[in-house]
Amino acid sequence: VLHGTAAAQGPASQDLLSDYWQQRADYDIRCTLDIEAKMLTGIERLTYTNNSPDTLRRYFIHLYPNAYRSADSELYRDFHPGTWVFLRDLPEENRGWLEIDTMTVGGEPASFTIDGTVLAGDFPRPLPPGGTVIFDMAFREKIRKRIGRAGYLGNHYDMAQWYPKIAVYDKTGWHQDQFRTGEFYGEFGTYEVSITLPDQYVIAATGLPVEGDPGWTRNEKPEHKDGGGHPGADAGVIYGTDSSGMKQGRDDAGLSLSPKTVRFRAVDVHDFAWCADPLFVVEEAKVGAFSVMSFYRQWNSAWADSALARTVNAVRLLDSLVGPYGWPQISIVDSPTHGGMEYPMLVMNGSPDMSLIVHEVTHMWFYGMLANNERDDAWLDEGPAQYFMFDWLAASTGRKDLWNRIGDSVIELHRSGFAEPVATPYHEFESSGLTMVYNKSALFLRALRIMVGDEVFEEILREYFSNWKFRHVDGETFLAVCEDVTGLELDDFFKQWIYSAKTCDYTLDRFKRREEDGLHWADLRIKRRGDMILPITLEFRLADGTVVQERLDGMPREIEKSFSFESKPE
Ligand SMILES: [Zn+2]
Repeated sequence: VLHGTAAAQGPASQDLLSDYWQQRADYDIRCTLDIEAKMLTGIERLTYTNNSPDTLRRYFIHLYPNAYRSADSELYRDFHPGTWVFLRDLPEENRGWLEIDTMTVGGEPASFTIDGTVLAGDFPRPLPPGGTVIFDMAFREKIRKRIGRAGYLGNHYDMAQWYPKIAVYDKTGWHQDQFRTGEFYGEFGTYEVSITLPDQYVIAATGLPVEGDPGWTRNEKPEHKDGGGHPGADAGVIYGTDSSGMKQGRDDAGLSLSPKTVRFRAVDVHDFAWCADPLFVVEEAKVGAFSVMSFYRQWNSAWADSALARTVNAVRLLDSLVGPYGWPQISIVDSPTHGGMEYPMLVMNGSPDMSLIVHEVTHMWFYGMLANNERDDAWLDEGPAQYFMFDWLAASTGRKDLWNRIGDSVIELHRSGFAEPVATPYHEFESSGLTMVYNKSALFLRALRIMVGDEVFEEILREYFSNWKFRHVDGETFLAVCEDVTGLELDDFFKQWIYSAKTCDYTLDRFKRREEDGLHWADLRIKRRGDMILPITLEFRLADGTVVQERLDGMPREIEKSFSFESKPE
């Protein structure tokens, strides 16, 4: 509820900021892709700096690919007995895993244990506040056939969550959770990644190439647009979804397997993803200080020109509403997937659809630069991504009922008793996760905007971004910024929308018209049947054609009120 006069009670955004710290994780990875064996072998140097006020004794490293090793993984159990049952029967060659062959920590051989997707060990010496320690490791990843967010399909590689990645340590401690349904959380740092692979590959990656040829000029744009979408559409390209290696790729080009090495560098990112395909066509446009790049498979001509132009538009939209894009490049990559997935500076999309592009580009700001824990607080980035997508869709199509229809999907779950709090960790939702995290949090942002007005809402977004970019954020951070900017106490508003599954249900119980003292009166009784409290806007259409709006505090269980007008309310 909006208490118009009460001042904000919670901690101010500036106080949170002055107490804030984050760890630093700098990666130097050199890896080699073996396309015959579907193996990635590499060495990784992780320089980890403890900026916390705590002395650390243990450390935790994510080995995400192990979620696809066997039916014992927690990820598998989350989906069982749902659509992922097939993981149980997956042939060995289609599975994936990540193994550590050797590791030293602070120059000493490390002893560690691995449980599923989490490696745990003790620092050889406790790591004091301000201390830095170097992890050196050799790893081997068996790349799975594309399941979930990554893998190979034919000659195409989507490489995400592919390297040993240190868990986040923040004000609530280590986030050493098993990889389950839900997404990611990472420490900011610099990534330097060298990838060795057959030289006909074109590579899209987080970061900028600093050495070697990423192959961006290798392939020509398709000549004719035929709507795209099916393999083999152009120039006799044979591009299967089997795993038989390079020769399947482009027989006419006389491919060789001679290797090349390309090195990428990314600053202020909390993850690193890359995609490689011998058939990527690359388009580029400059937008201010950074470049927008589109990578699509040559036969997929629906992407030609369109994906680049749409991404440029989406980036400009976010840039103007939220704040300047903070990295030198953004890549949108045509990927054999449904939907899309966001990584710093790179998104993998299953289509060049503008709605999807707006959603994923929004993630560069919300998740990429404003880095929430996607596992525990998925609403903080999916909410804005959906909000900007729906807002763009409503504006561009003129569909006035769009937001109502989004609302209906949420109301339906509340009505049937299936609604769960929006801020539930994603893997703990029983059934309503998708609608709560994606749609209800978008509605929440829209309600906030209606309540405080467009101008103040945009000020909230800009303030949030300019103070918190390249940092970790959570619900408390966003609430503090909202209260700072509006000067309002918004605790209850957040509680009702985000931290509970209260139902919003008001009913107009009585509407009576009468004439008295030469005025027209409307006597109303409104009942609040749900526990959620929202301000109510009443709209009266009068006989003389005017429309009068009145605002009510929606707190009481029963509101009786009379309004008078010069003309008869209809
Ligand atoms: Zn999303």
